[in-house]
Amino acid sequence: MDIVIHSVYGNPSSKHNFGLKMRAIVEASRYSVAKSLGCMPGELYFTSGGTEGNNLAIRGMYNIYSDQENEAVMSTSEHASVYNTMENVVQDSKVRLIPLLPDGTLDLEWADKLITEETTLVSVMLANNETGVINPLREIVRMAHERGALVHCDAVQAYGKIPINVKELGVDLLTISGHKAHALPGVGALYVRKGVQLHPTLTGGNQEMGMRPGTENYIAIATLGTVAEEIYNRESLLSPGLRDAFEMGLLKKVPDIIINGVTADRLYNTSSVTFRGINAIQMVETLSESGVYASTGSACSQGLANISRTLHSMGLSDDENLSTVRFSFSQFSSISDVVSAIEACAKCARMLRE
Ligand code: PLP
Repeated sequence: MDIVIHSVYGNPSSKHNFGLKMRAIVEASRYSVAKSLGCMPGELYFTSGGTEGNNLAIRGMYNIYSDQENEAVMSTSEHASVYNTMENVVQDSKVRLIPLLPDGTLDLEWADKLITEETTLVSVMLANNETGVINPLREIVRMAHERGALVHCDAVQAYGKIPINVKELGVDLLTISGHKAHALPGVGALYVRKGVQLHPTLTGGNQEMGMRPGTENYIAIATLGTVAEEIYNRESLLSPGLRDAFEMGLLKKVPDIIINGVTADRLYNTSSVTFRGINAIQMVETLSESGVYASTGSACSQGLANISRTLHSMGLSDDENLSTVRFSFSQFSSISDVVSAIEACAKCARMLRE
């Protein structure tokens, strides 16, 4: 890293040689990320990550429509960076929540009722970060556009795991984050369809076409560009083999578990498992001692578990909710990792249930 920092520097907005080199890196990365999403480079703005991208999409839109009756629709399972932002900028009585079906998929009948001519913005994630369930975005876009609403999609969890083409999805705004796809943390991007108007949420210089002032994080942006090229060129992004082997192994070796969303179309990298009667935080801590790094299904702050909105909406009881652990795989995981993880889970579950 020392070498990178000492050999790659210069403000991309400067007109001297160092600056021009950095500008070239930023623009090459923009081209690569745009290619990986099927959009024009001019429709992409670099941000500091998913949280900022989601904020810019929602706050930027709200800044334009604040003088109107501003109804918003989102799924009940949105990440906090969408959920809390929407609650923050849109009056409570004007936020409509699309519930989930027990398999974790979006309840489209409800979506059809909730998205109306009064709706300004619909925000639905492409894939859920807890269960991996993939949402029917095209259906949502059809409903929203028929009624004159715009669609924002949080694709942070899905980017690099399933092919994404913003034009085929038809979305108006789409967020990605670098670190979820093995780029450095601290970078992301927001796609804004040409013609869609957004107000920047930060005021300052004219970087990122005035949409996101502040000196670009060109080192992190460069890593996102590299990852985007890999994503574009990789023939298949992930296969279901490891996830399915893991889940089958667990079902054989660990009694009284639920694999959440098992019948739905899911990302191949995510497994949400409820270990009935076991505290998920204890399970995660015990697994960590065996070298298996998982997380609780519910957001966990300062050691206190919160009920996950996603699992709650799928119908899990509070006890089941707090007994849920999320496992993730990547292209760097191997079958021997999976075998060790199954053994570790079986051992920890036995121990914690005794
Ligand atoms: N959206 C989803 C679905 C996520 O899973 C995350 C991060 O976990 C975010 C948004 C926030 O992204 P970032 O950590 O880059 O701010």
